Amino acid sequence: MSFVKGLRCRECGRDYPAKALFVCEYCFGSLEVDYDYEGIRARLTRSLIESRAKSIWRYRELLPIDGEPTVGFHTGMTPFFRARALAEALGVKELYIKDDSVCHPTLSFKDRVVSVALSRARELGFDTAACASTGNLANAVSALSAQSGFKRVIFIPADLEMGKVVGSLIFSPRLVAVEGNYDEVNRLCAEIAAKYRWAFVNINIRPYYAEGSKTYGFEIAEQMGWKAPRHIVVPAASGSLLVKIWKGLKEFHKLGLIPKPETKLYAAQAKGCSPIVTAIEEGSEIIKPVKPKTIAKSLAIGNPADGYYAADAIRETKGWGAAVSDEEIVEAMKLLGATEGIFTETAGGVTLAAARRLIQEKRIPRDESIVVSITGHGLKTQEAVVDHIGKPIKIKPTLSSFEEAVSGKLS
Ligand SMILES: *Cc1c(COP(=O)(O)O)cnc(C)c1O
Ligand SMILES: [Zn+2]
Repeated sequence: MSFVKGLRCRECGRDYPAKALFVCEYCFGSLEVDYDYEGIRARLTRSLIESRAKSIWRYRELLPIDGEPTVGFHTGMTPFFRARALAEALGVKELYIKDDSVCHPTLSFKDRVVSVALSRARELGFDTAACASTGNLANAVSALSAQSGFKRVIFIPADLEMGKVVGSLIFSPRLVAVEGNYDEVNRLCAEIAAKYRWAFVNINIRPYYAEGSKTYGFEIAEQMGWKAPRHIVVPAASGSLLVKIWKGLKEFHKLGLIPKPETKLYAAQAKGCSPIVTAIEEGSEIIKPVKPKTIAKSLAIGNPADGYYAADAIRETKGWGAAVSDEEIVEAMKLLGATEGIFTETAGGVTLAAARRLIQEKRIPRDESIVVSITGHGLKTQEAVVDHIGKPIKIKPTLSSFEEAVSGKLS
């Protein structure tokens, strides 16, 4: 049973069938999935959701597929918990972490969007999956298309971290490293997508792909005990995750699953690539493209596809944004490790450093519920921290060597 009505232009509101379309032919606005919310409301209850397996598909009525899901049965329902030690370090009362650094199967939230995109791609008759990626998407498309029998062609910028490259190659995709930055990779892929009948998850089937990000927001609300937090800090690359968390919370409210969300959304970006935060700070409706230069490569999109909508959601919720330096990113990665035992990638460092700054600047009050969005795993971006975390202490295999070098210095 499907509740998808079709696609609708975000700008002019024209309706389109639920095909492999992504841009309005009248106004070039981007298309978004439209649902029969009346029908969903009559069916979807908290207890129905709770009765289902712990994956993104427990929210299947709000995801854009016609039949049964075919990809991502173990994706989603990642840990969500009160982070008391980190809260103390930041001087706040009620802090939570939503931890997609352990999302199945490739340790980032991209497993969510790809599971939805490929389930839909199969329904649309595609046999080849493709993407333009800053790294994590390459991993997720490679793994999940291997699991579900798609041919796979993956495009990345040539300067990606080794962990992201190896984490794709192990699934035997055609991995194409383009000499250029993400924005150039993306432009090339748009041309290729127009010529080859491949499912580019974040280009020609982007409306379906993007809906997968709502599940990150759904889970936060469900795991908080069916309510929304007051503040969510979200890392922004294209800006889609932030937009869809907000859409997800509004949908849950519309369906009577949670009280009206009084949530403020905050974009976290690296100083070396902060077009969305800059627009927020300058009060501008225009997202000015930038040339990225940051260790947070997974967020290095200089011309963000959903930048305008992300800034809009931030304005609507009266949130804000923060752009942080590479040093702050590394500091925050270490802080998260030392307080909560979580090894996040650079994007998580961006998010935590931004949260910390927003709290210091009193943009986020210290006594309200705050969620920090951790979206990827640190083993993939070891280059960022390897020179900043000390070295193991080398000793001979003797007690005296141990005591000379180590014991006595333990405290
Ligand atoms: C892609 C990515 C994001 C941001 O995604 P957008 O939806 O494009 O803003 C955040 N964190 C990680 C780890 C990512 O890989
Ligand atoms: Zn339009």
